[in-house]
Amino acid sequence: MKIYLIRPTGKKVPAKLPYESADHAVLATDCPECGEHEAKVQGTGKRSSQDKMAWEADAVATCCDRYVGTLRCEVSTLFGVEEDARVFSLGIKIY
Ligand SMILES: [Zn+2]
Repeated sequence: MKIYLIRPTGKKVPAKLPYESADHAVLATDCPECGEHEAKVQGTGKRSSQDKMAWEADAVATCCDRYVGTLRCEVSTLFGVEEDARVFSLGIKIY
């Protein structure tokens, strides 16, 4: 799984989950809005990306509560994230 933040300028900032199933991601850089070290961001309004190969959400920095861009989470997907979600909700396992 690859996570990064897409700034409104289009610049990509790498991010990672601090631990499995964390409710926030940690940026590889300081907060772009307030400069907080190792900024944490939370995504809201999760949706599939335009190319259907990732999840995206509006990202808000927890340090200053400011909108910082779009959080994009690229998963390895066979059919696109929506189709995968449908397949997995049926309880079908793919090997
Ligand atoms: Zn901040």
